[in-house]
Amino acid sequence: MSNKIYSNSKLSVFKQCPMKYKYQYVLKIKKRTIGIEAFVGSRVHETLEYLYSKILSKDQIPTLGNLLEFYKEIWEDRFNNKIKIVKNEKTKEHYFKIGEKCIKNYYDTNKPFANDGTFCIEKPIHHTTKYGDRIMGFIDRLEWSGNKLVIHDYKTGSNIPKNIHDDRQVCLYVLLCKNKYSEVDNIVAKWHFLRYCKTFTSFRTSNELDDLESEINSIIQEIENTKIFDPRPNKYCPWCEYKYICEEGEGDNKKWF
Ligand code: SF4
Repeated sequence: MSNKIYSNSKLSVFKQCPMKYKYQYVLKIKKRTIGIEAFVGSRVHETLEYLYSKILSKDQIPTLGNLLEFYKEIWEDRFNNKIKIVKNEKTKEHYFKIGEKCIKNYYDTNKPFANDGTFCIEKPIHHTTKYGDRIMGFIDRLEWSGNKLVIHDYKTGSNIPKNIHDDRQVCLYVLLCKNKYSEVDNIVAKWHFLRYCKTFTSFRTSNELDDLESEINSIIQEIENTKIFDPRPNKYCPWCEYKYICEEGEGDNKKWF
């Protein structure tokens, strides 16, 4: 049993590269750069949060034009020299337009938002598993659709998993909501892949949620028993915020230890 709180991204970083996990979560080294793909994702999430904050406060529902204006303002306000474009052939404008397309796709598919059942956005939910592991997740949006609880998550990246049913994040969010809203029988997850205007719906059985708790426990055991966090070079190294330190990237980590 651990006192630490784990999230899906924390577990995924460890599985991707133990060295990166050490830099980020053990040594807590400040990131010097942010990949522009992550920057786009954050701005799109903020824009959709703005949309639903207006819906929740029964304010006037923003038009698509209002949302795109909001997106442009926060993009210009937050953009700085830490934002890194890894794919040299692409421009800042290219990524700006991807964000615009994500917002437009979402708006056109889901308008007019008049009878929307959203009851909370950007919600942190915690849970302690039967193994005593403490886990948490930030849910983009929760909605009532009749007596069904719908978990929404927005994705702006270019990758769509082959089988959403195998996705650990989806399952983890269902587990968190099953425990938080234990009186609700019907909980589904909707993953919105905004670039492609595609939405996948998934649900989980009790056995699958039990299996997830067991899987999470074995990853946490592995993390907590690790003495040497080795680098594990992978296809995402060019985006790694710690490659300036790591010998597998472009750094000299002897300077850091
Ligand atoms: S550059 Fe690659 S190997 Fe090095 S810490 Fe980052 S992900 Fe791991």
